[in-house]
Amino acid sequence: MSNNNNSHNITEIFGSMVFGDAVMKERLPKDIYKALKKTIANGTHLELDVANVVATVMKDWAIEKGATHFTHWFQPMTGVTAEKHDSFIVPDGSGKAIMEFSGKALVKGEPDASSFPSGGLRSTFEARGYTAWDPTSYAFVKGNTLYIPTAFCSYSGEALDKKTPLLRSMQALNKQALRVLQLFGVTDAKRVVSSVGPEQEYFLIDRDVYLKRPDLMYCGRTLFGARPPKGQEMEDHYFGTIKQRVSDYMRELNEELWKLGVYAKTEHNEVAPAQHELAPIYSESNIATDHNQLVMEMMKSVAAKHNLACLLHEKPFAGVNGSGKHVNWSVATDTGINLLEPGDTPFENAQFLLFLVAVIKAVDDYQDLMRVSVASAGNDHRLGANEAPPAIVSIFLGDELTEILNALENDTLYTGKGQTLMEIGATVLPHFPKDTTDRNRTSPFAFTGNKFEFRMLGSAFSIAGPIIVLNTIVAEVLSQFADELEKSTDFKADLSKLIKRTIKNHKRIIFNGNGYDAAWVKEAEQRGLSNLKTTPEALPALIHPKNVEMFVRHGVFSEHELHSRYDILLENYSKTINIEALTMIDMVNKHVIPAVIDYQNELAELVLRKKAVSPDIATTLEENLLSKISRLSVSLEKRLNHLSEQTIAVRDIKDNLELAKAYREKVYMAMSELRLVVDELEMLIGSKHWKLPTYAEILNSVN
Ligand code: ADP
Ligand code: MG
Repeated sequence: MSNNNNSHNITEIFGSMVFGDAVMKERLPKDIYKALKKTIANGTHLELDVANVVATVMKDWAIEKGATHFTHWFQPMTGVTAEKHDSFIVPDGSGKAIMEFSGKALVKGEPDASSFPSGGLRSTFEARGYTAWDPTSYAFVKGNTLYIPTAFCSYSGEALDKKTPLLRSMQALNKQALRVLQLFGVTDAKRVVSSVGPEQEYFLIDRDVYLKRPDLMYCGRTLFGARPPKGQEMEDHYFGTIKQRVSDYMRELNEELWKLGVYAKTEHNEVAPAQHELAPIYSESNIATDHNQLVMEMMKSVAAKHNLACLLHEKPFAGVNGSGKHVNWSVATDTGINLLEPGDTPFENAQFLLFLVAVIKAVDDYQDLMRVSVASAGNDHRLGANEAPPAIVSIFLGDELTEILNALENDTLYTGKGQTLMEIGATVLPHFPKDTTDRNRTSPFAFTGNKFEFRMLGSAFSIAGPIIVLNTIVAEVLSQFADELEKSTDFKADLSKLIKRTIKNHKRIIFNGNGYDAAWVKEAEQRGLSNLKTTPEALPALIHPKNVEMFVRHGVFSEHELHSRYDILLENYSKTINIEALTMIDMVNKHVIPAVIDYQNELAELVLRKKAVSPDIATTLEENLLSKISRLSVSLEKRLNHLSEQTIAVRDIKDNLELAKAYREKVYMAMSELRLVVDELEMLIGSKHWKLPTYAEILNSVN
């Protein structure tokens, strides 16, 4: 932050609004602090007397920070966060009020949750779900409210949110990774956690322009818009100088995030005009998930203060790069060892190789789940298009590591960079450069030295889903490995065999080439990799018996929970397309047709008036234009009617999957056809009549 005048204040403001460890230590009685720490470390139950003390101290601290209300903050299946604010005020019995906050209110809440999607887990007439404090994620003050991060469950214990299964998946990974570490004689590690650093892309446009585009307001993306004369082809925006207005925005955004304890670190311009990125320093999965939600919320609310609008949709503009989110993921022990980092000793490198091949096998075995975890109507515009990773899941390892695995598989000698490796556990592996410039950016899942980078997420996603999948599938493979090796009588030999076998059976998922290349699609098919192009094609994998069994085995989802999630995702897909279709119809009726009529009218009148002056006067320009627009307006009407009919026709479909498919194949297709003719009209119609901001105006609206 070279342009930050207040940089000396950063350490002071960082975490100032968080009820974090330092505040707890300072303010809580020693025994209470200890009890709370124990709860946090072991995930055990918090006693009510402890909770009562914590609540009172927390409330006093929050009031000092300006809070008058508190809320249980949770992450329902909508993908965004939810909150219901209650004030601390309690009548004191004499007509006055006191500020109170009990342990019970801290630990448990009962939001009226009837209108959150539950996928049939909780019928609306018994809208009882409860929120439970997740003490591993600190409470914080934002605005006038104390936020308590919580998990959201039904009374029968079923998860109604994204946080609960995320915590369960962390436990599953912890358990299985510890079993494997035990085999390597690692006994000092008590906990293994997955860490995540999500890079967040977004667009920033002027708010006045935004408010003139109903499609951006209601759908998050433009439903039409002709290509601007200058887009991203000059590649002058990527890492370019940041404009003053944007940098003022970024400064305030950073400060707000720092106050909330989010380590916002890097920021730069992205490829597309008006596109930017923010990356925090990585943290434990559940904290990173909470923080990424805060990042997205803050991006929007700070934008409003600067008369800007922040677009988090995966594809706000056709023909311009969309926005993604890269989830950098690694697994580390509480003793500070990153299990995806090649070690310094032969033994450590054997351990690294085992964890590495576990990830490779997991991703190969559960490609479909990885794909499901990034499936949404918005992300369908990116995946498979020539800018984001394809819808095919594959792993980039880089040439060097791939060669090492080849050598291991074939018992050949590896001699790269002066290193040799003959036998697993016998030699030291080379350290892989963490940031090589030739890094493959087209890969959906790339090894980047000491972590994997999952690049298929859309920018609007909660990162919880993809992390749940990653944690669980890797836990599954580690459990298979542990089952096998725990029985071994010759650990070294069996470990070597296991690694070799895993490489042999799963190397098809490794691909170091260009993921955008059409040839890859063919090759991937020959390799037997799945290519689930759209959300309706991808989602059924979520309830595939093989996947259900795996999630159930690790206690991450029950079968019932998976089915409910499947329904919610399908419904969400259909609803999204339905809203888009209705918005499109409305915009064509209210904006496009009037513009078409007015302009034609002007042209026709001009022809008539010119002819009245002299029958010989040339009117070819007006007449040709008029007939072109007239022809286009015929197909405009046809396609508009067709789209309207399709949106009505799908209403009869009862089955959720069939409905989603119909939205894709019928409604979405009709929208695409309508868009083509609207975009052609936009290019012909004078700007006096075309009142919707154009792509050029939107993309260059921040100066
Ligand atoms: P790039 O744009 O080159 O991919 P960035 O620096 O923008 O890289 O983002 C890298 C992200 O990866 C950051 O959020 C960083 O904190 C995170 N990261 C670094 N090391 C790890 C790790 N061991 N585990 C998880 N995330 C990590
Ligand atoms: Mg990246």
